[in-house]
Amino acid sequence: MKKIIILFITMSLLFGIFWSLGRDKKMEQEIETIIKQDQHMVLSIIYPKTKKPKLDQKLKTQIEQSYDEFMKNYVIPEKNGHAELNIDYQYDKVNDRYLSIILDEFISTNHLAHPITKKYTYVFDMKENRFLTLEDFIEKNELKKLVIRLQKQLIKENPTCINVKELSTKITPEYKNFTTFTLGKEDLTFFFQPYEIASGSCGIIETKVPLDQLSLKIDIELGEEEKKFEKVIKETSKIINPNEKMIAITFDDGPGKYTKDILSILKKYDANATFFVLGNKVEIYDESTREIIKQGSEIGNHSYNHKWLIKLDKEEFINQVNMTQDIIKRTTGFTPTLLRPTYGSTNNIIRKNTNLDIVLWNVDTLDWKIKKPKKIANRVIGKVKDGDIILMHDTHKQTVEALKLILPELKKEGFQFVTVSELKEAKMIKKFNVSE
Ligand code: ZN
Repeated sequence: MKKIIILFITMSLLFGIFWSLGRDKKMEQEIETIIKQDQHMVLSIIYPKTKKPKLDQKLKTQIEQSYDEFMKNYVIPEKNGHAELNIDYQYDKVNDRYLSIILDEFISTNHLAHPITKKYTYVFDMKENRFLTLEDFIEKNELKKLVIRLQKQLIKENPTCINVKELSTKITPEYKNFTTFTLGKEDLTFFFQPYEIASGSCGIIETKVPLDQLSLKIDIELGEEEKKFEKVIKETSKIINPNEKMIAITFDDGPGKYTKDILSILKKYDANATFFVLGNKVEIYDESTREIIKQGSEIGNHSYNHKWLIKLDKEEFINQVNMTQDIIKRTTGFTPTLLRPTYGSTNNIIRKNTNLDIVLWNVDTLDWKIKKPKKIANRVIGKVKDGDIILMHDTHKQTVEALKLILPELKKEGFQFVTVSELKEAKMIKKFNVSE
């Protein structure tokens, strides 16, 4: 028995070493996506899997806790309210040793005066496999200096929010006052939750201290930063016959780990599709994102972090769209012209404040809910007609399998698979020909 255990440990160690040598650096991170909706709530949870078990466990525990609390306290069916939970993250790899992650939690319902926002931060030492606290960075006597600096800074930056008298009693030189912070390439950022040092309506208060102005206990060597702007050239151009029947398949909520699989199935059947991507995932799956364009498919905008767009004010909405446009442009050189609003809901703020074409769908595969590929495929095969726009998601395994069933069947039925823009163009050509 002992021998078997030792063999098993050796094997897993060896496997671990080969695995970590072989994988792409970017694949250190994978993104988990949970997006659901029913008549009482919408929910979007997007968080990283770092492959550091200790860190992943902690993130998962927090997500589960937030989810349970949301379902228990905010989704109230009988009150007919629509609750929203949005969890998003920020990931900052400072260098090969240190990693900072923030989970951003947002809860909103009709019954709350203000949405609830909260930040959970994790600074992780990958070499020592442990979480770091402020004590790891700052000596006790340095902490006193830091506190004076923070007090001044907070008052200066938030003149209307902070009560000066209260601040000095709340921010004292004790490590326990500074549990929510992150380490960046250039600074330490400190966060204070709503009501912690200011009134609730002021939200989360944040302030930065440049690293070069602190005497830190540890040495932080910065890795080289890679910044790029790549213009991707379409490698294939398909001939579309506007007089033959066609459909536009669309994939929401990616890019993700299944996007590449989907692209290779599309390629096999000479198919184009439209991918409505989330801005916060583009950099992590930048190769897949570029591959979409290379293959002749199209990228559309699906917001930055899947916030329920109809609940945002004008400025927040524009921000969600522009941040996503910028990151797609930077990664692929392609500028999207299409917007698919989250949860398929639109309002006047959305319609009036974007030049992008708003694209919904008329065939919903429910692939996020239905687990059996065959059942998903049966919602499409034999049911779609010329000009239909089909909704799918490149965030589920069953979608990949369903697509393998759908494409050969529809091809047999004579359908061309086109992007939403190609579908629009074909419709225009047809209209023009008819009126002539
Ligand atoms: Zn979506």
